[in-house]
Amino acid sequence: MVLRGVAPGQQQPGTEAAMDLVLNVADHYVLTPYVYPASWPEDGALRQILSLLVVTNLGAAVLYLGLGAISYFFIFDHDLMKHPHFLENQVKREIKYAMTSLPWISIPTVALFFAEVRGYSKLYDNVTDSPLGWPGLFLSMISFLLFTDMCIYWIHRFLHHKLIYKLFHKPHHIWKIPSPFASHAFHPVDGFLQGLPYHIYPFLFPLHKVLYLLLYVFVNIWTISIHDGDYRVPDGLTSVINGSAHHTDHHLFFDYNYGQYFTLWDRLGRSYRHPSALMGKGPLEVVRKLQAEGKLGGKTKEHANGRSQNGRKEE
Ligand SMILES: [Zn+2]
Ligand SMILES: [Zn+2]
Repeated sequence: MVLRGVAPGQQQPGTEAAMDLVLNVADHYVLTPYVYPASWPEDGALRQILSLLVVTNLGAAVLYLGLGAISYFFIFDHDLMKHPHFLENQVKREIKYAMTSLPWISIPTVALFFAEVRGYSKLYDNVTDSPLGWPGLFLSMISFLLFTDMCIYWIHRFLHHKLIYKLFHKPHHIWKIPSPFASHAFHPVDGFLQGLPYHIYPFLFPLHKVLYLLLYVFVNIWTISIHDGDYRVPDGLTSVINGSAHHTDHHLFFDYNYGQYFTLWDRLGRSYRHPSALMGKGPLEVVRKLQAEGKLGGKTKEHANGRSQNGRKEE
């Protein structure tokens, strides 16, 4: 495998970056034979940055649209779209907002990927490079989840601070009843800040690069899953896992359940709220009740009067 962007002797084999794996594949099959002039070396800095921009944007769009569509068609309960707070053309607006933000988010993200490719991270190639072998990989998976969960909790809470909220985080809260496509619909600064912990981790802790790519895909699936309106949580894990039911209450009631995977930091930070959907008082029950009362013939315009379901003023 080609060592990228590092003078001979500067880097030992096995200390390349995860994005290197992706770049190698892109170079080998597409970019070198069909796109770049033969005179442009694969480890040229500008070429690497351009390739990373293309690969990152394509990857993000495919993950978001592909996984979002699977979730939307096969998991998301379309009855939720009858909820009074589900906006006119909401799905289209969520997709448009996310697809406009992703290219902006990719710019600082690519700067971090570039630092990885240039060998500044602690990513490694082989299980034998892990001091603890396979158990080390398992431990790094756990620590990745705990570390990013903690960071995202505090970043998310910071984004809710009254001096910051309107600047960056408000667009994600337009969707009171999110669809899976709300998962990546963030202001670029918001999206980058909440994604930052994932990118910082391999600069601080050793991590197998394939595991890193798998965790990256998992993170995208999880982010979609907490917006998919499937409120079920396995028995016994309701109070531990931050699922769609928990995150739905974040969108509805605003300053509760800031967490990502676990309820741990919401409990420590006293922002935990037991999900209304798990107590039979969720958005689907609201829809069923309105249907039973015959009030859902035409969509009501409750959301237009600036009051949310619990009567508090919309932020
Ligand atoms: Zn929020
Ligand atoms: Zn959300």
